[in-house]
Amino acid sequence: MNTSSLTTKRRISILGSTGSIGCNTLDIMTHLGGREMFEVPAITGMGNIELLAKQARQTAAGFAVTADPDRYEDLKSALAGSGIEAGAGPSALVEAGARDTDLLLAGIVGIAGLAPTLAAAAGGADIALANKECLVSAGDLFTAAIAKGGGKLLPVDSEHNAIFQVLEEHQRHAVERIILTASGGPFRDFTREQMAAVTPEIAAAHPNWSMGLKISIDSASMFNKALEMIEARHLFGMRPDQIEVIVHPQSIIHSMVGYTDGSVLAQLGAPDMRHAIGYAISHPRRANLPIERLDFAKLARLDFFAPDEIRFPALALARTAMQRGGLQGAILNGAKEAALEAFIAGQIGFLDIADIVASVMDRLNDGRKAQSIEEVYAADRDARRVAAELMRKSA
Ligand code: NAD
Ligand code: MG
Repeated sequence: MNTSSLTTKRRISILGSTGSIGCNTLDIMTHLGGREMFEVPAITGMGNIELLAKQARQTAAGFAVTADPDRYEDLKSALAGSGIEAGAGPSALVEAGARDTDLLLAGIVGIAGLAPTLAAAAGGADIALANKECLVSAGDLFTAAIAKGGGKLLPVDSEHNAIFQVLEEHQRHAVERIILTASGGPFRDFTREQMAAVTPEIAAAHPNWSMGLKISIDSASMFNKALEMIEARHLFGMRPDQIEVIVHPQSIIHSMVGYTDGSVLAQLGAPDMRHAIGYAISHPRRANLPIERLDFAKLARLDFFAPDEIRFPALALARTAMQRGGLQGAILNGAKEAALEAFIAGQIGFLDIADIVASVMDRLNDGRKAQSIEEVYAADRDARRVAAELMRKSA
């Protein structure tokens, strides 16, 4: 942890403060004492300048950045008189990540979050990671960058946060498997024919969790779980065959760890991302969090089903990417981001997303391993380009 602060306040920067994870983070920080307890060296958003400026004023942030280079003047005028520094565009985003801080909450969606998160890691900040794409795309390079910087990596994704809570460090050698729970999303019981006809609005309506648009649609296709399998591999150093997925519609068990003696340890709680966020930013302490307490008599039952990999091919694609290794994680994610954006824009159907990802992964399967972050970005660009070509051809 970086401890150069002159005050005793904890310094927390937030990438993606205007999103679902970002707003939940600010809510928890307010609950834990707000400006009495925390300083906010930097926060970032994109299109919602009004909210970004409001958050910057409320937290007395040092630096507020919009990722959109064309919105600099808008942000500057929204911050007029506050003394808060404004920035815009990709280099300002990296500068926000690099600002001296104790902990950085990585809450940008997509590979766009990688560069500023790496900048924070290089500076030695602890990283509370919601942006799973960092691990999916850059894998070992990302964990190596954090180890080199000397900060801790604290998972915020609820499944990985659950595993982090029950994976006893001194028992790591005895971990046999990791069991990621999945709600199954809104199309758990849909046929492929029904799925072929869904709109982005229908796909974004998650039954249990309230999240951003892209992750909600990724939950419906189970690409979110696919990304989480790869994320788990890198976070906990598992082989692909040690990572299982079980559909658990109530989302009460957030994930489990199975040990060689047959024991399974689970973490349970209400489906509320503020728990994982509060846990990560309070670590190694447990704070008093405003999370609904479980009433087991009311819950009455917990259900489990094996995932259907015919209707949800994303899971098999994750396994393929892990087995092939190298840049396949970056390629899976880049192709998925391109296809997801096309689905949101109404250009392709819901089932086309997995077909496009599978084709792009096969075409770019050259066994190369990333030696540098630049190669990860290049693989991401290649995957998007090939995905765009495929989508043009089939239009
Ligand atoms: P969101 O869409 O609600 O918010 C995304 C944030 O990133 C916003 O602040 C937005 O302004 C910013 N952003 C978007 N595109 C950007 C770009 N190109 N460059 C810079 N900034 C950009 O997303 P979210 O649901 O809060 O998810 C954030 C991350 O956390 C994702 O990686 C997601 O997979 C992960 N995650 C989210 C949840 C959840 O409950 N929402 C749970 C687990 C993991
Ligand atoms: Mg998750």
